[in-house]
Amino acid sequence: MPDTTTSGPEPLLSVRDLTVVFPTRRGAVRAVDGLSFDVPRGRTLGIVGESGSGKSVTSLAVMGLHTGAEVTGSVRLDGRELVGLPERELNRLRGRRMAMIFQDPLSSLHPYYTVGEQIAEHHRAHFGSRRAVARRLAVDALAEVGIPEPRRRAGAYPHQFSGGMRQRVMIATALVCEPELLIADEPTTALDVTVQAQILELIARVQQDRGLAVVMITHDLGVVARVAHEVLVMYGGRAVERAPVDGLFRAPSHPYTRGLLDSLPRLDDPDDGPMRAIPGSPPSLLEPVSGCAFAPRCPRAAAGTAAERARCEAERPALTGPAGRPVACHFPAYEGVVS
Ligand code: ADP
Ligand code: MG
Repeated sequence: MPDTTTSGPEPLLSVRDLTVVFPTRRGAVRAVDGLSFDVPRGRTLGIVGESGSGKSVTSLAVMGLHTGAEVTGSVRLDGRELVGLPERELNRLRGRRMAMIFQDPLSSLHPYYTVGEQIAEHHRAHFGSRRAVARRLAVDALAEVGIPEPRRRAGAYPHQFSGGMRQRVMIATALVCEPELLIADEPTTALDVTVQAQILELIARVQQDRGLAVVMITHDLGVVARVAHEVLVMYGGRAVERAPVDGLFRAPSHPYTRGLLDSLPRLDDPDDGPMRAIPGSPPSLLEPVSGCAFAPRCPRAAAGTAAERARCEAERPALTGPAGRPVACHFPAYEGVVS
């Protein structure tokens, strides 16, 4: 797989040195700190990390939906800079060229309008389409996402759908304006396992059918394994590792990634116990970290010599390494060999 940040066609989405800071009463919260990644058309980038690692803030910043935050760096969609774009222009791009789905579809669906009306209205708002045309497109979109009897179900209200069917409705809404970029923020977290698998399958299918660029945000490496081509692992608002999905699972380089993988339930071992979460807690984003943010929880740092530990605590590791497989660690593992 090519290194998408250095070769291949111009990526649809290109994020460089994205930093998002929230001024709060307790101080500046640096939620995202110097993040860079690319997503080409027809590819899915999985962004994975524990709760609080900055995944949602990243996705909202890409969409230009940050409230009260200071956003710096660059977000380019098809070559066009989005950071600093006036709200009116961002609003035009949202929906038409990029769309987002969330964990909780009910929060984005209006309870008093039928789903068909809402999808049609979304299209009309962006394209000024005629009512009959928009309505037909809404039914087509519902059919595309696998809602049975789409013509009839278009006349139903959100509460008349199950959680999984509501997420399908959200995907239909996102797709009706034919965006090129879809950002999905924990779209299956609230669903039970079987429905989760169906929604992931649906996202993978529409991604292929439409050649979409997809950013799949999740705390669950199992989700990444199902849909992502490439993976970005986040910790404390920074990227700690980027890899093609098979490489990440076969040979994780960063101790944090290895910890995430170790906390996955083992399918090949029926006696495997409950999830082993990584001990310790995520870093405070209020104080600037001088060394590696993961050092206090890192088994590699703990097992190192005093000099190695001191380096991890004092010197912030940059995201560097082999093309397509950069890692931000002073002592990464390569191909399973721990240095
Ligand atoms: P996650 O990876 O779980 O999606 P988020 O991106 O939601 O994490 O949050 C990253 C960090 O940014 C968290 O520590 C969160 O508390 C902080 N944060 C998010 N939104 C705000 C805000 N509006 N004001 C202050 N801090 C925020
Ligand atoms: Mg989140």
